[in-house]
Amino acid sequence: MQEKIHPKYGEARVVCGCGNTFTTGSVKKELRVDVCSKCHPFFTGQQRTVAARGRIEKFNKRYGQE
Ligand SMILES: [Zn+2]
Repeated sequence: MQEKIHPKYGEARVVCGCGNTFTTGSVKKELRVDVCSKCHPFFTGQQRTVAARGRIEKFNKRYGQE
């Protein structure tokens, strides 16, 4: 009876703002984060702006070419 209200703890796909994806254990199936260990300023310094620029380019590619 109790088991029904317990969320399933499984593997979740984490999608970062920099485009990096990885998996982690979570009750959710998909998570969105702004920074991960790959683009966190502590690890990469200035690479975050590079990642943000790439995101804008992706956006323009998708919506700006019509
Ligand atoms: Zn990231």
